[in-house]
Amino acid sequence: MKTIKVSVVTPDGPVYESDVEMVSTKAKTGELGILPGHVPMVAPLEIGSVRIKKDGKTEYVAVSGGFLEIRPDQVTVLAQAAERSEDIDVERAMRAKERAEQRLQEQKTAHVDFKRAELALRRAINRLSIAERKF
Ligand code: ATP
Repeated sequence: MKTIKVSVVTPDGPVYESDVEMVSTKAKTGELGILPGHVPMVAPLEIGSVRIKKDGKTEYVAVSGGFLEIRPDQVTVLAQAAERSEDIDVERAMRAKERAEQRLQEQKTAHVDFKRAELALRRAINRLSIAERKF
């Protein structure tokens, strides 16, 4: 079976690297299903998941936005932060979610902090949903 190489890279180093059957993720323009031989493209990513099909199984990586580069034989995800589902610290994400929710309650008038808290909340919810496979 044909494969495509996928790399998920963050400022702290590589998070995932393997030859796989298919990569699915959500770009800002919509859902993408990437098979070997895909047309080259570059796209910004949402806070969300990268789903990787390998040996008939699906692996999940949480990404906090970033960019996707597709070449016919390689997919590269450059993200500020990314975690494999099994490496997600659920307690930490729950605490981050609670902190963000509290900030959103307290700071309804301060726009900049509101946006920051909203993004923190989205990252936490994303991590929780990927750790619990509910998405
Ligand atoms: P927190 O407030 O818990 O730090 P955050 O969303 O602000 O959450 P980020 O700035 O996105 O955290 O990430 C900082 C680093 O910590 C990254 O390397 C990221 O992969 C890691 N990280 C953040 N939350 C978790 C988590 N719940 N489980 C595992 N790693 C995490």
